[in-house]
Amino acid sequence: MQLLAGTTKKKGKAPDKEGRGEAEAGPSRNQLAKERPPLFAEELWACIYCNYCSAECPTAREVGWESTTPRGKIRMFKSLVDQWSPKRGVEVPDAFVRAIYECTSCGRCSVVCHVGIDFLTHHEELRRWMARSGCGPMEDHDVMVRSLENYGNPYLSPSRDRARWAEGLDLPTKGELLYFAGCSDSFVHPDVARRTVAVLRALGMDVAYLGNDEPCCGSTTARLGLESPFADLASDVRTRIEGSGAKLVVTACPGCSSAFREYYPKAGFDLDVEVVHLAELPDRELRKGRLRFRDRLPGRYVYYDPCHLGRIDGVFEPPRRVLEACVEEVVELARNHEESLCCGSGGGLKTAFPDQATSIGGRVVEMAQDARADTLVTACPWCETNIGDASAARTAGLRVVDIIEVVHQALRLDEAEEGTEKRKRRAPGRLVG
Ligand code: SF4
Ligand code: SF4
Repeated sequence: MQLLAGTTKKKGKAPDKEGRGEAEAGPSRNQLAKERPPLFAEELWACIYCNYCSAECPTAREVGWESTTPRGKIRMFKSLVDQWSPKRGVEVPDAFVRAIYECTSCGRCSVVCHVGIDFLTHHEELRRWMARSGCGPMEDHDVMVRSLENYGNPYLSPSRDRARWAEGLDLPTKGELLYFAGCSDSFVHPDVARRTVAVLRALGMDVAYLGNDEPCCGSTTARLGLESPFADLASDVRTRIEGSGAKLVVTACPGCSSAFREYYPKAGFDLDVEVVHLAELPDRELRKGRLRFRDRLPGRYVYYDPCHLGRIDGVFEPPRRVLEACVEEVVELARNHEESLCCGSGGGLKTAFPDQATSIGGRVVEMAQDARADTLVTACPWCETNIGDASAARTAGLRVVDIIEVVHQALRLDEAEEGTEKRKRRAPGRLVG
């Protein structure tokens, strides 16, 4: 599988607000896009340049350049369309490449646009056009993409280690409920994966898991615009899920759940199963009266809405209801629900611009401190990592955890041995933590 038909070859010096500075970046890495720029992006002509979206864009606020704002990107793109000709194509400048990858795919611009421009959708189509033309993604994404090609995950971790977290749990590979752990929990947050299985078993559910045969969901390739690798991964995932006999797929990563629910159908890879995010399951059990918590955990907790679970998938209340049920005090961040501020790690930003990502995550940490929360709870491993990194960088002392860890603690599952037959068969009605 050839993942990189052509990535940008040199990062170059950051352009200034007018896009100057490229001459100092050494040999130009501009590349010619022969393919016509995306037709549907003509909707961008409706832009009235009000700049309302720019104040809401996390990367634009961080960088401060006009070129990084959605408005600036639209202006540059329109200029490329004007210059394109069937004979010559168009030269895509470094400033545009950089601007298009200075985006976390947070979707805030699509929500706030006065004239209804769904800029995130256009942005993703622009990335696909650039990747097809050999103008993207950036060189800094190369390591991650090569890692997917060689190891089947974006973390440069040997594929044989994928299922290490599940050792001793005796998880079958076939069953009606399939836990899709995803690369992040498998390799970066293995404790969350183990606790997830413990919670699901405590809910009386029989859990199946694909083990080392679980592929990457491909969301990172989709967001970078790499269509062919994404299609390969989606096809593999669909085949393996079909082979498992699953009727319900549960994942703790909004990257996986949004890939399965949104990107797969768009690319022709419908999964003939129900897909739920893990934060939704305890909520279902709560509402059916099959889950209660005897004591609430002490502390002041705040829930952080991950972009792809909240703003894009529309899952806001289930994790809040779960949190309300198992901790003493829940407060809100100044920006929440649809207005949630991106954590900074999505869309490949953390890979290509790690300082920007940490800095954006720092704004979330500041909001949590303003809310005087001691624990920030999220439902996304990417958010957990990036906000955790930002908190550590600021020595803020903010505890950042996944919601399933709170449920696990509230159910006192850490007091018993995980993975025992006793817990596997515990009746839902006895779930009183
Ligand atoms: S998706 Fe988010 S980061 Fe990307 S341009 Fe829109 S507001 Fe900015
Ligand atoms: S909010 Fe909409 S119309 Fe205004 S600058 Fe942004 S994309 Fe253009």
